[in-house]
Amino acid sequence: MKGVTFIGDRQLQVREYPDPEPGPGQAVVKMMASTICGSDLHIYRRSKEEIQSCPKVIAGHEPCGIVEKIGEQVSNVRLGDRVSVLHAIGCGNCEECIKGYDYRCKNMDTIDGKPWWTGQTGNKDGSFADKILVPSRGCLPLPDELSFIDGAIMACAGGTAYEILNKLNVSSLDTVAIYGLGPVGLSAVLIAKGKGARVIGIEPMKERLELGLKLGVDKGINAKTANVLDEIREVTKGRGVEVAIDFSGINLARTNAINCVGFGGRVGFIGHTDVELAIKPSELVRQDITIRGSPIFRTDTYFEMSDFLVNHKISLESTVTHRFPLEQAAEAFKIFDTRQTGKIAFVWD
Ligand SMILES: [Zn+2]
Ligand SMILES: [Zn+2]
Repeated sequence: MKGVTFIGDRQLQVREYPDPEPGPGQAVVKMMASTICGSDLHIYRRSKEEIQSCPKVIAGHEPCGIVEKIGEQVSNVRLGDRVSVLHAIGCGNCEECIKGYDYRCKNMDTIDGKPWWTGQTGNKDGSFADKILVPSRGCLPLPDELSFIDGAIMACAGGTAYEILNKLNVSSLDTVAIYGLGPVGLSAVLIAKGKGARVIGIEPMKERLELGLKLGVDKGINAKTANVLDEIREVTKGRGVEVAIDFSGINLARTNAINCVGFGGRVGFIGHTDVELAIKPSELVRQDITIRGSPIFRTDTYFEMSDFLVNHKISLESTVTHRFPLEQAAEAFKIFDTRQTGKIAFVWD
């Protein structure tokens, strides 16, 4: 089979690998779609020296496909099942896993050389490949109504967006300011609209702002040219928004997110930048503001999310602007690296 590995300094190789064989409790999934994530870019941009200290694995962590082989002691999936695959798969038995926090399991399998949120490196091959070998526990059923690309997006970007909107209890009573209309922010636009909220999208790249408007953003604000806080005040008649979420990881956006909510506002951060942020505690107290962070998503969230997408006829695939065969991985990454695109997907026949 073919697989993609990063070799440093924005270069990658499409190489031949032996077909994986499942052991007990494992499944081999034939890939049908695998989407590129912003966090893949971080590895893609590493220097040759930095890459050398990482395990040599196939990249990619947003897999979706068809179960092709199963090992012994597998009961949760059958051959031919359409599945989305978790990228942080817990042991299934510890307290964290039983609560649904696979991504906090001390014995988790992480595909594609991560987990980035712990700063460690994993050692399992990822999803930019014709096939992937995973613990079968990580294979989650993909409803017939959803496409393979929908399933790939749910495996990381979509799930992350869904989780933070849930944590902030977004509903039709809210106006939600979404900072950053990259792939995760765009998924959040679709889900927030599905929950009935009014959405303000804030984004400096013209292409992404246009895409956001096409996907349902009610009011777009160009972060480069407009006074973001003034515009939000105007749209909300001076009250501020109920909810603001930063998907960009940029401090100015995070500060604006805190400052654009009204009394009782809820603010969410995702993303993993470590630059310190100055916050005025008296402002939080006076304005009764809640700030929440959120890493990826709980395993049980996947089932709620897939029902939600089906019932509300939401297509996360509509955030995709480019599709490539795996052989064109170099071109796909070059384009994604410009940050002017929506989601990019590798697809198989
Ligand atoms: Zn991802
Ligand atoms: Zn566990």
